[in-house]
Amino acid sequence: MSKSDWKSIFELIKPQFEGQFEFDAPLSKVTYYRIGGPATVLATPKSRKDLELLSSAIARTRVNFFVLGWGSNLLFADAGFNGVVIRIKNLFTEIEELPGSILRVGAGVGASTLLRRAQEKGYGNLSCLTGIPGSVGGMVAMNAGTHLGDMRSLVTKVESVRLGESESDLPVSTYIPDETSFSYRKNHFLGPHDLVTHVELRYHPEDPTKVKSEIDDLYQRRKLTQPVDYPSCGSVFMNPKGRSGEEGAGLNAWQVIDQLGLRGHRIGNAQISEKHSNFIVNLGEAKAADVIALIDLAKKRALSELGIELHEEVRMIE
Ligand SMILES: Cc1cc2nc3c(=O)[nH]c(=O)nc-3n(C[C@H](O)[C@H](O)[C@H](O)COP(=O)(O)OP(=O)(O)OC[C@H]3O[C@@H](n4cnc5c(N)ncnc54)[C@H](O)[C@@H]3O)c2cc1C
Repeated sequence: MSKSDWKSIFELIKPQFEGQFEFDAPLSKVTYYRIGGPATVLATPKSRKDLELLSSAIARTRVNFFVLGWGSNLLFADAGFNGVVIRIKNLFTEIEELPGSILRVGAGVGASTLLRRAQEKGYGNLSCLTGIPGSVGGMVAMNAGTHLGDMRSLVTKVESVRLGESESDLPVSTYIPDETSFSYRKNHFLGPHDLVTHVELRYHPEDPTKVKSEIDDLYQRRKLTQPVDYPSCGSVFMNPKGRSGEEGAGLNAWQVIDQLGLRGHRIGNAQISEKHSNFIVNLGEAKAADVIALIDLAKKRALSELGIELHEEVRMIE
């Protein structure tokens, strides 16, 4: 189907859409990196009906689509995205306590909102998510975490819908993770058409004052060690593999980049951060091509000079 044909089908659903719906919308406005050309369609659904409309149009047109959370781990190409970007921001935003120290959390809830709730109510172990700027859906997809733990240690159930499978139906799935469901910064159960809607997390009840001070300390530490004043995607590379064969179990990626003398190296308006060398920051109007050139340089030199393979944690989308 030609681009103008599939666009005309999406033009038909625009008047029925309750959320935001834009054509040729710059992705730099919806990513932490402030980088990325236009998406042919950028839809921010507000209701389940909006999602059904999108899913049905995708099934009809077979157009390429991408599920966007809060855009904190993404580098979209300068040419943008030829397809439909579905942004989960104003949907699935509830947090509900269930019996047995379980929380049911919507995929659109931000980590900062969840952590504020953890401080008020005393959800001890959730502090391992402190400083991660993503949505709960994105954190499940990425198995996000810190040195204190990751999503795999919290998630007991994942609910999702499958987009674009049927013109009349939005199939729902439930997944109960086991030890094979996640690895370092990866999940192994979501298919390319799955959109996470809700997640159940197990929390450890603790004194809220203690949880509050732990989270506040962790935030302070982040501010001191990370370049929070510039747009970035967080860590660009996963920590290289250790003896166990799992990424994140050996050297730190920042140590590799420091050994190569690349701290502070700049291409265009992208720079390997002076403050934390596993961050590439956007100094202002940086292009995706600048960031990619720095990534390629670090990868090539790590392999040729140190025999170390670096793998991207950032997801690069064309
Ligand atoms: C300053 C900074 C610090 C960071 N620190 C950390 C850190 O300490 N630890 C860490 O792990 N990460 C860190 N990150 C990276 C990032 O915050 C995490 O990867 C986070 O989980 C991404 O969530 P998101 O909602 O922004 O997802 P996005 O960046 O929007 O998307 C990431 C992936 O998740 C998928 N996705 C998003 N939502 C859904 C959904 N509802 N259903 C299905 N798939 C979905 C997307 O398709 C994409 O493949 C940092 C980033 C920044 C900018």
